[in-house]
Amino acid sequence: MDTLIQSIYQLFGVNSKEQFADLVSAKGHQEIIRQHRADLIASRIFPFAVLFGIVVPAWGILDLIYFPTEIALTFVAMRLASGGAFFILAYITKKVRIGMKRALTSLMVMLMIPTLFYQLSTPLIASAELTGMATTLMSLYGLLPYVVIASLALFPLTLKEFSLFSLVLVILSGIGLYRSEGSDLNMLLAQLWLLLVILGVSMFSSLQQVRYLISQMVKASYDGLTKLLTRRAGMDIMESLFRATGLQQSNFSVLFLDLDKFKGINDTLGHDAGDEVLRQTAKTLSESIRRGDAAIRWGGEEFLILLPHTDSESAKNVVSRLMNRGLATLPDGTPVTASIGLSEQHEDNTHSWKDLVDIADKRLYHAKQTGRAKCVAPDGSEVHFPAQNARVKAN
Ligand code: GH3
Ligand code: MG
Ligand code: MG
Repeated sequence: MDTLIQSIYQLFGVNSKEQFADLVSAKGHQEIIRQHRADLIASRIFPFAVLFGIVVPAWGILDLIYFPTEIALTFVAMRLASGGAFFILAYITKKVRIGMKRALTSLMVMLMIPTLFYQLSTPLIASAELTGMATTLMSLYGLLPYVVIASLALFPLTLKEFSLFSLVLVILSGIGLYRSEGSDLNMLLAQLWLLLVILGVSMFSSLQQVRYLISQMVKASYDGLTKLLTRRAGMDIMESLFRATGLQQSNFSVLFLDLDKFKGINDTLGHDAGDEVLRQTAKTLSESIRRGDAAIRWGGEEFLILLPHTDSESAKNVVSRLMNRGLATLPDGTPVTASIGLSEQHEDNTHSWKDLVDIADKRLYHAKQTGRAKCVAPDGSEVHFPAQNARVKAN
């Protein structure tokens, strides 16, 4: 059983259950990966939408030349409608940062246009007596379902998303195939078989793109020493969180931490001991926050914690939890403390994440000025580290 699981992991290029789960569903994806994947999907839809927006209506000229007028006119009308839909799609996906939901909806729409086109065109062509070039054009229409399913391979989709997309497409294509090949069961089965083979290849390609995207993002977004998000990645996340609709109405808290007298640790115990303190602190931070929160290494010994949908009272609870657990301890057992500034977008009436971070930074500075080892909240109240954390006071 274990070797079977190992071979499946190997096939998909992953090493663990968690990595495999990230290919199956987007549930556990970090915000930054979600955003990047949405951007990638949109940026791939855009050129196709533009291209099809032009080519699909233009192809109508061939319909007019080779098909009987009545059929040709219906086709041209359908083509103009499709072309318009493609241009709307191009307009939507041209914007940067459109969000995952809109990216997936756009993709669904892009795939549905040719699928519906196929649905509507099969009965039209089936009833007509065609010859010569018209027969060739007709067989090209017959290829549409395969092209649509193969094109899924161009997008980084999780197994869940891919299954949903392909289920819809296979059912619709199956109906279309049945309509055109209905009388010949063998032919129908052969076509469905081909459809499934193409589906398998596309699925593999889609999942590999997700895997590659995640591994690249992880490499680029996480700090080597602490394994927390880098400042760059953190800024990206805040940018996209603040664009997300609905967040403006909700609470959003930020914690800005700066370790106390950290230089002293380096100076007395050495740089490696300092690094170990940073690693321990990072571990504490990432283990003390929820899934939708984010911990960022903002600078040397400065950290930022993002708490979406969290008011300052709940954020203070997070702070108390951190303080009671202890951020890190020195080899002699002395706990390491930090000065913390807390800001919240409603209470501080901020309109950008930069303002929110600036205000948290000012409160952090205030905490440093007034004795360290504590957190300063928007209402001026303070949360203190437990009394045994006496290192900063002694120094
Ligand atoms: P304060 O309580 O006022 O914050 O005092 P501090 O000593 O922590 O403040 P300061 O900002 O002067 O010191 C930060 C130190 O962190 C200086 C720098 O050498 C050290 N540092 C920054 N990045 C790293 C790192 O990656 N590893 C180690 N070991 N030290 C680092
Ligand atoms: Mg500092
Ligand atoms: Mg410091």
